[in-house]
Amino acid sequence: MNAPYPSSGAGSLDRPLHRIFGFSSFRPNQEQIVRALMAGRDVFAVMPTGGGKSLCYQLPAVLMPGTALVVSPLISLMKDQVDAARANGIRAAFLNSSLDFADQSAVLRSLQSADLDLLYVAPERFALDQFRELLTGCRISMAVIDEAHCISEWGHDFRPDYLSLSSLVELLPDVPVAAFTATATRKVQQDIVERLRLRDPFMLRASFDRPNLFYEVRFKEPGEAQLVSLLQGFAGQSGIIYRTSRKSVNDTAAMLQKRGIRALPYHAGLGDTERKRNQEAFIRDEVEIIVATVAFGMGIDKSNVRFVIHADLPKSVESYYQETGRAGRDGENARCIMLFSHADIPKVRFFIDAMQDEQERCRALDALSKVVAFASSTVCRRRMLLEHFDEALPVENCGTCDVCQGLHEVTDCTRQAQMVLSTIVRTDSRFGATHLVDILLGSKNQKIMEFGHDRLKVYGIGKGHDKKFWRRLIDDLIARKAVGRSEGLYPMLYLLEGGARILRGEERVEMVRIKEKKGKTAAAVRGGLDALSEADKQLFEQLRTLRKRLADEQGVPPYVIFSDKTLVELSDLQPSTPEEMLAISGIGEVKLARYATPFLEAIARHKAG
Ligand code: ADP
Ligand code: MG
Repeated sequence: MNAPYPSSGAGSLDRPLHRIFGFSSFRPNQEQIVRALMAGRDVFAVMPTGGGKSLCYQLPAVLMPGTALVVSPLISLMKDQVDAARANGIRAAFLNSSLDFADQSAVLRSLQSADLDLLYVAPERFALDQFRELLTGCRISMAVIDEAHCISEWGHDFRPDYLSLSSLVELLPDVPVAAFTATATRKVQQDIVERLRLRDPFMLRASFDRPNLFYEVRFKEPGEAQLVSLLQGFAGQSGIIYRTSRKSVNDTAAMLQKRGIRALPYHAGLGDTERKRNQEAFIRDEVEIIVATVAFGMGIDKSNVRFVIHADLPKSVESYYQETGRAGRDGENARCIMLFSHADIPKVRFFIDAMQDEQERCRALDALSKVVAFASSTVCRRRMLLEHFDEALPVENCGTCDVCQGLHEVTDCTRQAQMVLSTIVRTDSRFGATHLVDILLGSKNQKIMEFGHDRLKVYGIGKGHDKKFWRRLIDDLIARKAVGRSEGLYPMLYLLEGGARILRGEERVEMVRIKEKKGKTAAAVRGGLDALSEADKQLFEQLRTLRKRLADEQGVPPYVIFSDKTLVELSDLQPSTPEEMLAISGIGEVKLARYATPFLEAIARHKAG
C-alpha cells in the first residue's frame, strides 16, 4: 500500500499520532473511534471528561481529505480548541457571531478552497439556508457534534439550537457523523442517536472511571479555617471551589483575597465582562483559584486543574461527578474534596420545597438523598460513583479514595445515641440541639438552672466527648430519621420510630470519624510533580514561568503550549537535544519546531547553574 496513512485496516496510526500530537500511544478507545471515522462510519461515543475526545476527530480530520465540521456549543470553548489545535499545526478555524463580517468571509473562503482541516461552528449556523447551501459545494470530511447531550431535552444542558442538527444526515448524506458527550444516561444516549438519525453508528461507552482523581469527603467545619488550611496544601496549584449561592461565592472569594490567596469569583450574577475576565484569568494561570457556582465549568478545557473542592453539598451525584471531572484532564493526579455537613441539608430542602413543579421537586429530593448517601457512606467512593452510571468497579477497592485508604474509622456510638435520645424523652421533646448538648455536658447556664435540668439523670453524662461530637451525632440521628425536628424558629427535637428502636437496643448506631493524616493530602495530589527532586522542582517552576511568558506573547492559555505532564517530564528527563525532546509526551513536530529552543536553553541553564 502506497498511502502513507491507510484509512482502514491494520496500518499503524502511531506515526501520525506522534508526529501531530507528540503522544506515543492512544488512550483507551481512541484508536477504534479514529478508525471507524476513517472508514466512513457514524460514531456515537460517551467518554468521560479528560478521556481525550478531541483527538478522536482531530486526528482523522488531518488525515482525511477535506474539512471536518465540528459543532460546539460555546463560543469561548471554540476559541480555546482552535488555539490548541493550531498549536499542534492543525489548520483550524471557527465560525461564530464573535467574528466580524470580514473575518467570517475569510474563514468561509478558506473552507471553500479546502485550506482547513477543522472548522468549529456554532449550531445555529445549520439553521441558515445560506450556510447549508455553501456546505454542499465544499469538500467536507465528516461532521462532529461535540457535547452532543445538548440535543437532548432529558439532558441538563439542553440547547434548542442543537435541534437543527437533525437534518445533518440529509444535508451531508455521504459523510460520517460523529457525536461525542461525557454525560449520557442510557436515556439521553438513545435520544441523541435518534435525534441525529445516526446510521448504524459505531457505539462506544467508555468507562466513567477517572483513575487519576482522588475522592474524599470531609466533615465540614464552621468558619474559614478548614478551607484555608486545605488550600495551604495546594499552594501554587490551580483549583475550583464550588459553592451553592452567589453570596457565598462572593464571600469566600473575598475572604481568600484578604488572606493573600489569589482567588476570583464566578457566578451568573456577575456582569458579562467581569465573568469573562475572571474565567480568563483562571484559564491563563493568573489566579490559582476560582470560587464558583455550578454556572462555571462547561466549556472549560483547562487541563491543569489540580483540585476541586465542593464547599457545599452538590445537587446530585451526577453533577458531583461532572464538577469533579474538571480536575486532572491532563491525566496527572488531582484531588476532589467534598466538605459535608448534615447542617447543609435543611438549606437545600428549603429550596426544593419551594419548587412549583411536582415532578421536578420529587427528582430534586431523590437526587438530594442520593448525594447524602454518597457523602455519608463508608463504601469506596469510586465504586459508588461508577454504580451511579450502572458500571461495576472491576476491583474490590480502588485504593485512591478516602474510604479505601482507611482515612475513615467507623465507631459504635449506640450508647452515646441512647444518651441523646433519653435526654430528649426526659425533657418531653421540648428542646433543641443546643440545649440538649448543654444538658449532656453538664453546663450550668441559666436555662439549665431555670428548668432544673441539672437534676436530670442524664445531666453531665456526656462529658467524655466534646460539643462538636454531640452536635454531629445529633445531625446523624436526624439524617437517619431516628430523630425529627419541628419547624419554626426554635426547632425542637423528638423521637421517631427509628429512635425508639435504638433506645430499646434493637438497632445499632455507627458513626464515621476521619483520621487526620497530615501531609498526605498535598503529597498525593502532586503526583508526577511530587516525584521530582527539589532541584528538578525548581526547574519545573522555571519552565512554568517560561510557558506563561510564551503563552502571553501568543495570547493563548498556558496549557495550550505544554500540559503540566509535559513540563514534569521535561524537568525530570532534562533533554539536551531536539531529538531527546521529541520523546516527551505532548511534543509533536510543530511544538518541537516552535518551542525546542527556549525550553532547551532553559534546561541547559539549569544544568549549568
Ligand atoms: P475531553 O474532551 O474528552 O474532555 P480532551 O480532548 O480535552 O478531553 O483531552 C484531555 C487531555 O488529554 C488533553 O490535554 C489532551 O491533550 C490529552 N490527551 C488526549 N489524548 C491523549 C493521548 N493519547 N495521550 C496523552 N494525552 C492525551
Ligand atoms: Mg471536549
